[in-house]
Amino acid sequence: MTPRKHDVVIVGGRCAGAATALLLARMGHDVALVDRATFPSDTLSTHAISRSGVVQLHRWGLLDAVLASGAPAIRSIGFGTPDGLAERTVKATAGVDLLVAPRRHVLDTLLREAAADAGATPYEATTVSGLLRDATGRVCGVQAGDQELHGRWVVGADGLRSRTARDVGAQVRDRTLSPSGTFYAYVDGLDARGFEFHPAPQALIGVFPTHGDQACVWISAPATALSGLRSAGGDKPTALRHLISTKAPDLGRRLRGCRINAPVRGALNLPNQVLQPTGPGWALVGDAGYHRDPITGHGITDAFRDAELLARALDDELNGHVSLAAVADRYDRTRTAALRDVLAITRALTAFPPLDQFTTLQKQLSAAIEREASWLAGLPVPGSALSVAA
Ligand SMILES: Cc1cc2nc3c(=O)[nH]c(=O)nc-3n(C[C@H](O)[C@H](O)[C@H](O)COP(=O)(O)OP(=O)(O)OC[C@H]3O[C@@H](n4cnc5c(N)ncnc54)[C@H](O)[C@@H]3O)c2cc1C
Repeated sequence: MTPRKHDVVIVGGRCAGAATALLLARMGHDVALVDRATFPSDTLSTHAISRSGVVQLHRWGLLDAVLASGAPAIRSIGFGTPDGLAERTVKATAGVDLLVAPRRHVLDTLLREAAADAGATPYEATTVSGLLRDATGRVCGVQAGDQELHGRWVVGADGLRSRTARDVGAQVRDRTLSPSGTFYAYVDGLDARGFEFHPAPQALIGVFPTHGDQACVWISAPATALSGLRSAGGDKPTALRHLISTKAPDLGRRLRGCRINAPVRGALNLPNQVLQPTGPGWALVGDAGYHRDPITGHGITDAFRDAELLARALDDELNGHVSLAAVADRYDRTRTAALRDVLAITRALTAFPPLDQFTTLQKQLSAAIEREASWLAGLPVPGSALSVAA
């Protein structure tokens, strides 16, 4: 088959890959967005988007579409206390006054459609089985199903177990296994008005209202405390209710009349890891290049932030404004600085220190997210000059 030529070939088409494709396409580049899944497709993840991620959706003109999909606008956050739920209104800062938790089969599909509308070429049900290199060893394309896709850049947005990262030999700069785990399920009929966080000794339990009047109910805890839940087989819903009732009795009571309507899913001991983000002809974005335990609910936001940092750097190189080495250096420096605070807080939270220290860390997380949100809100929107000119 004749190879197809693109400026950029992106492996993995969810929140990191589709967002990178969207921005590069809006900046006028020819992008292939390849995923082995067929969309709409769900993935293992709860899906609260922190303020900085919502800022990205708003700046990219996608927040209205996310809300129109039926994901409820979250205007309050409740914290479980011994005296009941202490609710706070989501403040208007960095240009947004709400949060949102769209199901991933909806969010990822919407991002892919936006990328396609901007001119990217989506390939689905297409597995990338290897990289192509030129005579100098520079990565110059991928083998995707039975065809070759050539590109000046190949972006690995293929998730935590990235084949791209492995095939390019990306150096692991920092890696520890999280001592923690997270499990979740969906329930009908819970009286949740907004996001809820119920800190307890050695656990954090939460609620994220989502589409169809359902709520995602989850628990993060030391992996040792969740191993029984993991091995509970068909009794997982009962085991989840029991754990939540033990750790957050008020929420446990509210859940009694609610039906768990989907399998309990989750993961233990995921890595906290940072990989070298670029090399000759390749770059990594999203979980492929940086992963943190889900306790901070920041993976989608990391993907959106780094998609923009990478798209800007690649745009400059593709337009001949900067050298390859400068692209590598800029993306590396900005990503490293941007991920530092939340990664440190994630590691500290998953150690489940005494409750007062845990609460202090949650406040630090909220402050770090506010800083990130105002920084992102102040950046020029990629591709906006082009869309104005058009
Ligand atoms: C239990 C849990 C709860 C979480 N909760 C939250 C939360 O509340 N909020 C939040 O922000 N984050 C959360 N996260 C993190 C979030 O899910 C991830 O950070 C996010 O999915 C990363 O997106 P990504 O696009 O980088 O990778 P992924 O979503 O993993 O997408 C990678 C894509 O690459 C494709 N792919 C892989 N290999 C190939 C190949 N060879 N060829 C073609 N395609 C390929 C896959 O099919 C997939 O579609 C959670 C994670 C877990 C595990």
